[in-house]
Amino acid sequence: MTNIYGQLIDGEWDVSGARMENINPSDISDTIGHLASATPAQVADAIAAARAAQPGWESVKLEEKKNILHAIGQELIDRCDEIGTLLSREEGKPFAEGRGETFRAGEFYQYYAAECLRQIGESAASVRPGINIEISREAIGVVGLITPWNFPIAIAAWKMGPALAYGNTVVLKPSEVTPATAHVLAEVLGKHLPKGVFNIVQGGGDVGAALSSGKIDGVSFTGSVPTGRKIAQAAIQNMARVQCEMGSKNPIVIMDNADMDIAVAQSIHGAFGASGQKCTASSRLIVHENIHDEFIEKFTKAAEAKKVGHALEEGTELGPIVSESQMNKILDYVQLAKDEGGELVTGGARLKRASEGYYLPPTIFTNTTNDMRVNREEIFGPMTCVQKVSSYEEGLERANDTEFGLAASIITTNLKQAEHYKRNAKFGSVLVNLATAGLDYHVPFGGRNSSSYGPREQGMHAKDFYTVMKTAYTNPG
Ligand code: NAD
Repeated sequence: MTNIYGQLIDGEWDVSGARMENINPSDISDTIGHLASATPAQVADAIAAARAAQPGWESVKLEEKKNILHAIGQELIDRCDEIGTLLSREEGKPFAEGRGETFRAGEFYQYYAAECLRQIGESAASVRPGINIEISREAIGVVGLITPWNFPIAIAAWKMGPALAYGNTVVLKPSEVTPATAHVLAEVLGKHLPKGVFNIVQGGGDVGAALSSGKIDGVSFTGSVPTGRKIAQAAIQNMARVQCEMGSKNPIVIMDNADMDIAVAQSIHGAFGASGQKCTASSRLIVHENIHDEFIEKFTKAAEAKKVGHALEEGTELGPIVSESQMNKILDYVQLAKDEGGELVTGGARLKRASEGYYLPPTIFTNTTNDMRVNREEIFGPMTCVQKVSSYEEGLERANDTEFGLAASIITTNLKQAEHYKRNAKFGSVLVNLATAGLDYHVPFGGRNSSSYGPREQGMHAKDFYTVMKTAYTNPG
């Protein structure tokens, strides 16, 4: 009997929709299950269920809400080996990362459990004597959450935690590439929450489109820029709030005064962690000419030492690419980099392993320039392109010369450069002597330009999207 991942609407499961196969990218002979796609009518039903449940959920006592969110987080933490195994089998990240992501998802719920008790308003004096003013926040209502495959449980958690903590009800549309992890998450949420508060609709872009154009009050999306644009346009027709977190082309500037060990370790982590399938991946390395050759030699050696293999095999450091189409897209960029004049230093071709999967090695190109398409478009794979600069100023200018703006790093031992870069790099996150990837969960996350649209996610600032302010005036008479 195959696993079928369907809809949870108003507390009832339904698996009647059209089927899509869900395959293990480490071993394509392993079918994990089948997704049953939601119909437009089911999406409307899920929104209606969330609408009906919203006033009740918003009025649940704060401590009860806190306890429910805490219990959801605890269950994910307690089950992180089991759920992390499924996540790695389905998405392809090494087990340590799949487990770590599940654990982190649990921490998100527990962070927002505590937020339930931190809903403290403001008061103001009136310009009119004797009048009192209170400023408070209320839930926006029903939110649609549309998520990608690369962090199938953490991204859902960092949206769902604040959505629920501030009294909203939810319809989640996870990626069609990772329905199994989403299904387990939905089982956990369905168990702990009153019916209708959380609903899931599975399927592809058509299901996401039905949700973003439905009668919701807000949509929070993470994914690619072209999809974000469509979602924002659909949502605005209903005057629904929009929050989009999208792709990027994140630079690390490596100065000639850099600690070489830090430069190599952070570049490896940023460029090849999660096989480069991260919005924060370090895909542009901007290296000072004085240390360029030494850096490339050490960086290449470290990249070639990485073990690429089955996500669930012990010792694997890079798992497979999530799907055949993503792998082919990356290989097209390898060809493009060659055509544009880049020099392939290592990697660039599919690897064979004991099981047939979508394996690609760490891939490094040198001799690239910032105007090449490989330095302007998101590749979303274990490939990074190196360009040379002759000064700090040139490095900063190259870093900022992009249509994106999620995260930017500098590796330097010069305090003046570090401080200047923090102030002048036009990105949502700026890091010194750290990679662009690997950020904390209790502080704001988001970007500039094409990388982000709308208020920040995560930390206490998540309330800016998930709540609406009310200003109340009282004349005590
Ligand atoms: P994607 O845009 O293809 O899909 C994301 C989600 O949108 C999926 O659930 C998909 O089914 C849905 N979707 C597709 N078309 C839609 C439409 N017309 N209307 C509504 N929904 C639609 O992205 P992906 O390939 O799943 O994920 C990779 C992308 O996500 C990369 O660009 C990456 O940078 C980005 N990402 C960004 C962040 C961030 O926080 N900034 C984090 C992770 C991933």
